[in-house]
Amino acid sequence: LEAKLQEYAGCQGLIVTDAVFSMDGDIANLPRIMELAKTYHVLTMVDEAHSTGVLGETGRGITEHFGLAEMPDILMGTMSKALAAEGGYACGSQLLIDYLRNTARSYIFSTSLAPAVLAAAKQALQLLTEQPEMAQALQQNTRIFCQELQAHGIESNSETAIVPIILHDEELALKAAAALRQKNIYISAIRYPTVAKNHAMLRAALMATHTEDELRHAAKTIAATIKELK
Ligand SMILES: *Cc1c(COP(=O)(O)O)cnc(C)c1O
Repeated sequence: LEAKLQEYAGCQGLIVTDAVFSMDGDIANLPRIMELAKTYHVLTMVDEAHSTGVLGETGRGITEHFGLAEMPDILMGTMSKALAAEGGYACGSQLLIDYLRNTARSYIFSTSLAPAVLAAAKQALQLLTEQPEMAQALQQNTRIFCQELQAHGIESNSETAIVPIILHDEELALKAAAALRQKNIYISAIRYPTVAKNHAMLRAALMATHTEDELRHAAKTIAATIKELK
């Protein structure tokens, strides 16, 4: 990123990043990105689709996770992941929001979201505010699940609700997902072009409400199924 910024030094620019990358579940190095943005005088935009309700002590996302004092210029997210509703949002300065209201193509001449969907999103935010321990439960579940996978010989590690189990082989990933479905474990196979070639994986999406027993059982069954198929 720094090499690119140097290459275009003096230009107007916007660094765009996911907060949590949707396939590998890894977290963007936002403190460093913000530093670079400052040094090279460009703006920052962060997509928190898989970060809202997931990262941070109270689920407030990546800025809470890193304890950042300053916000990215554009902080956007969806209400379709942890908040279990639909739609999205953009946060920024009044100037930016006014600009978006007047020029964003998806905003002008489009029907707004249904009131019921918005009420659901509002309620989800309310629940998260009242019960920040839900975010902590999710983080704890990630630790349990990864530990269990490792105990069964699967090299998998994640800090977020997305836990990739890299298998490389597409056939193996598809077969494993189908076999696990038969065993009542729903985990999706991800392959090219969603991820790079030879990076096929099973992608687990954890919930705050998964129990420790469920996670242990799932990890054990996933490991056994992969071993059988190899
Ligand atoms: C899911 C996702 C979106 C889109 O969210 P929708 O609510 O489905 O439109 C945008 N960005 C990222 C990174 C996502 O994972």
